Amino acid sequence: ASYSRIAATDASIQAFLTLNEEGARAAAAELDSALAAGGEQGLLFGLPAGIKDNIVTEGLLTTCASQFLRNYDPIYSATVMKKLKAAQSVTIGKLNMDEFAMGGSNENSSFHPTRNPWNTDYVPGGSSGGSAASVAAGQVYFALGSDTGGSIRQPAAYCGIVGLKPTYGLVSRFGLVAFASSLDQIGPLTKNVEDSAYVLQAIAGYDAGDSTSADVEIPDYVGALNGDVKGLRIGVPKEYLGQGIDPKVKEAVLAALKQFESLGATWEEVSLPHTEYAVATYYLLASSEASSNLARFDGVRYGVRAENPDNLLELYRKSRSQGFGPEVKRRIMLGTYALSSGYYDAYYLKAQKVRTLIKQDFDNVFQNFDLIIGPTAPTPAFRIGEQVGDPLTMYLNDICTIPVSLAGIPAISVPCGFADGLPIGLQIIGKAFDERTVLRAAHAFE
Ligand code: GLN
Repeated sequence: ASYSRIAATDASIQAFLTLNEEGARAAAAELDSALAAGGEQGLLFGLPAGIKDNIVTEGLLTTCASQFLRNYDPIYSATVMKKLKAAQSVTIGKLNMDEFAMGGSNENSSFHPTRNPWNTDYVPGGSSGGSAASVAAGQVYFALGSDTGGSIRQPAAYCGIVGLKPTYGLVSRFGLVAFASSLDQIGPLTKNVEDSAYVLQAIAGYDAGDSTSADVEIPDYVGALNGDVKGLRIGVPKEYLGQGIDPKVKEAVLAALKQFESLGATWEEVSLPHTEYAVATYYLLASSEASSNLARFDGVRYGVRAENPDNLLELYRKSRSQGFGPEVKRRIMLGTYALSSGYYDAYYLKAQKVRTLIKQDFDNVFQNFDLIIGPTAPTPAFRIGEQVGDPLTMYLNDICTIPVSLAGIPAISVPCGFADGLPIGLQIIGKAFDERTVLRAAHAFE
């Protein structure tokens, strides 16, 4: 069913980069025979999954939507892939994204842009735009994405589905091609909150292969969905409903808060005073980490090697000039600059300090509140082409998701209405490792 849906819809959506039909059929047949032999059904038994193309899959191309890795055929699988296999989900294929997860519209894919299933003239968001569009178009039951500054939540909002960024450290990053290691997290994109809880249940957990993996007990996420939000205290940051927020988005968020009130929760306006520095802080830190992480792409160890170089330096230079797209080059240059001797203290170190202040903003609010709620993005999806060539405007779209990433805390985007036929996302933010409350509230709301 998944492949026939893809055949019917993907010519216009263009969510997939690589299909795994033979592999998926073999895996499904294996599941059938294991079941027939009296085996137990796994948590995600037989569910068709799409995987963002920066998650390493053994024997299945993993391109990060980059020309540099267009031929990269990994010899191992990410920890999340092993966990999905253990839960008996079936991998349908690899999904489009902004190159190396840098972007918010899928227009930075070096292959082709994915389109928003609600209106194919519009972007699906990004960087996990292929993941969001595929779930929204009914091609797969769920998808995995990665979120560094909003890349699960924002495309989920634009495509009218549910996207969860877990607490930093809850899901293993082993086998996730690193963009900004102190921010990257893998998480589920699903049609509803219950599915999100199931997928999180399957992929969360300590992994010695990831040095920042959290050694915490994994609670029962699915069991948390009891429909009860009575007495929950919600903080609503005034900075998330102020300047730059589309009035229709604001209206939808206020209507959602009314609904929470009628379910027995209470809400109050709060302040996250360092929000105005978040975008600058994020783009300094993320670019710095990216410039270091992407140094491994030298034309020798992975991916495409430039032909006929005269010497080693030229091999690096040619491979990197040809392999990386413009946004990736921009970030490598920004990051290299911020980390260079003489500028480090003024930019990188300063940004680290501001990151701490941003985290403290959240800690302060969470002393008196259980959840923080606001929009996922300031506007609904925009038209393809509308913001290319204007990286600053593009960066400002991340204003509501980036602070959460810098603080390392969990947040979910759930649909909360439409503006001119395009979905709007509500962002529900929780305390570190309190995914249960986030999911419970999202489930009661949806
Ligand atoms: N849009 C943000 C960026 O371009 C977020 C990307 C992400 O979360 N991977 O960096």
